[in-house]
Amino acid sequence: MSNLKPVLQTWATAERLPSLNPSAHVDSRNACKACGLGMGGQRGGRTNELDQFPSICRKSLQAHSSDTQGPIPVEVFDHPLAELAQLSGHELEHLGRLNTVLHKAAGEDRYRPLGWDQALVLMAGKFRAADPDRTFFYTSGRSSNEAGFVLQLMARLYGTNNVNNCSYYCHQATSVGLQTTVGTGTATLDLEQLVNSDCIFVIGANPSSNHPRFVTLLKACRDRGGQVIVINPAKEPGLVTFSQGVGASEYLQPKIGSDLWLLQGLAKAVIEGRHTDQGFIDAHTEGFAAFRADLEATSWASIAVQTGLAEDRIRALADLYARADHAVFAWGMGVTHHLHGAANVEAIANLALLRGMVGKPAAGLLPLRGHSNIQGMGTVGVKPTLAAEVLDHLEKTYGVRLPQTKGMDTLACLEAAAQGNIDAALMMGGNLFSATPNSAWAAATLDKIGFKVFLTTTLNRGHVVGMETSEALILPVSARDEERQPTTQESMFNYIRLSDGGPVRLDHVRSEVEVLCGLAEALLPGGPVDFSLFRQHSHVQQAIAAAIPGMAPLADISQTKQEFTVGGRLLTRPEFATATGRARFAVRAAPETQASAAFPFVLASVRSEGQFNSIVYDEADKFRKTSTRWCVLMNRMDIDALGLEAGGRADVSSPVGQMRGVLVYEYDVPRGNALTYYPEANVLIGTAHDDRSKTPAFKSTAVAIRATGELR
Ligand code: SF4
Repeated sequence: MSNLKPVLQTWATAERLPSLNPSAHVDSRNACKACGLGMGGQRGGRTNELDQFPSICRKSLQAHSSDTQGPIPVEVFDHPLAELAQLSGHELEHLGRLNTVLHKAAGEDRYRPLGWDQALVLMAGKFRAADPDRTFFYTSGRSSNEAGFVLQLMARLYGTNNVNNCSYYCHQATSVGLQTTVGTGTATLDLEQLVNSDCIFVIGANPSSNHPRFVTLLKACRDRGGQVIVINPAKEPGLVTFSQGVGASEYLQPKIGSDLWLLQGLAKAVIEGRHTDQGFIDAHTEGFAAFRADLEATSWASIAVQTGLAEDRIRALADLYARADHAVFAWGMGVTHHLHGAANVEAIANLALLRGMVGKPAAGLLPLRGHSNIQGMGTVGVKPTLAAEVLDHLEKTYGVRLPQTKGMDTLACLEAAAQGNIDAALMMGGNLFSATPNSAWAAATLDKIGFKVFLTTTLNRGHVVGMETSEALILPVSARDEERQPTTQESMFNYIRLSDGGPVRLDHVRSEVEVLCGLAEALLPGGPVDFSLFRQHSHVQQAIAAAIPGMAPLADISQTKQEFTVGGRLLTRPEFATATGRARFAVRAAPETQASAAFPFVLASVRSEGQFNSIVYDEADKFRKTSTRWCVLMNRMDIDALGLEAGGRADVSSPVGQMRGVLVYEYDVPRGNALTYYPEANVLIGTAHDDRSKTPAFKSTAVAIRATGELR
């Protein structure tokens, strides 16, 4: 048996690819497998909800190129885990599609092929032997609403609320911050309203890399005479210029982690400039007096110091906002990935409320959600706490008492595992190892989980790291456009897409719903739910329609083929689902910088154009002009002050880890700030998180940067 690395180098991926027909893919009636903007579905991949016909998106093709790979040759699994673990995420992804059930016994050094029937028996036996409270169930946004609903119902009938999804590492701060202010957890407007807005804020997001067609909508706003205001510490070329020489009208670069100060400064300037909509504030909100008093007590000098932005600049931006009639606030994980992520989201809502920009058409709040069905996962109950009415419905429908104990979020599950308190876990999609901060801790923690099951289409580092002593099962599943029955997904505009599925490309993969029903039948025989019925997706759709508010049209979607907006989500009138029916201004203390004498830089981890979440398609980033992901992007003056050179090497260290020998790039970021690529940067990032949302602070880690060799 030869060493794996050299074998891969001579094994050109292109030779293993079946012919990729991009137009056949994008025109198939399936929701895009990449971002949460939610293209595709019954209109095909080049047409949006408004029947507009935009361009092909490279992100969508990247996801498709991965799914159309040939199967991983089984000889690869002759190699021990230690060799597989030497492969990068990019190399593992490009090994091909998984087409073999794989089992690694505890203490063995490699995976071995296993039959589907044996795998199901093994899996059911392991979960049956475990205390449900010592297990967890995790999903990504790749899976369908149908699979998510079956998974969460099975887990709860089994006996645990330890059910969560990858948004607990991404946008949970959004859900918390929106609930406290406007009484919802998702976008308050749809695409139709967005295209009628005259001002769009893009805060802490880089849609040119992560939501490409959103940039088309930004350009359209500029073309109709509207403003696009970008707030981002990094000057991202794809936002400076959208296309054809048109780009952001204003681009503010606050220091990393100073968002709350800037948002408070903007609110202060709006109030001081008498730009508030006092009629709206009086009639539809509460808490304004306390909010105004807090801003009055916040000095402009402190705002300027913390943000690195002059008072005049912030006032000018507030004046621009004041001229808008229909403003939309969009944001990404640059807002949520902080110790104060939920407070950041509340501050955005505050700013919108000041001018009555929530609760009317063509204005509102728009979190830019990551994966194509991550919002749907929350909607169908893949979360630790079900809404009371959903819990009540499920209990009455199935005549059961479901667990009442508080379930654990994603990080809490990992922390429990670190304490040796998790015996079994099921992970449907995603890459929990790579997504978790503090990589060394994550690997050791995952290995403490005695038995892990992964449902996946390709291999990733989460399948080969954190595995040394524990037992694991990998189950190969269908991609969305290979499903034999239609599935549904929810976009970030609360729009439910219907995906037809399509031809199965590999002979040993199974639908996730089929796998979960097989597990549920074996694990819960004679239980109150006949999971064999759920093998028909239409039955799952009817169950979701009955249980989940706003989802009634799902009941017969397989006949009607009618996609729809989830009921009760859009706020076109100022009627808020809070206890008083009024929106609430939130008052939160703005934080001090994370930097310290020992770790004087604040570092944000970022994604590249050539990746999607933790999946890396290309080493290079065509927007930032980086050729390797093992790099740090810094301000020119910091490079000089440290005696470094652009194109040279540096070591980056934090209290939890080091990245040695990273390539130094000059980049337009504030002094004292730096960027590195996620998930590689997770070796530096600790598990500190926003207390209210549990979202880790992936984008504000204090680090030291030195010339390579100076670190001890
Ligand atoms: S913008 Fe997002 S949803 Fe639309 S095609 Fe691109 S990746 Fe897919």
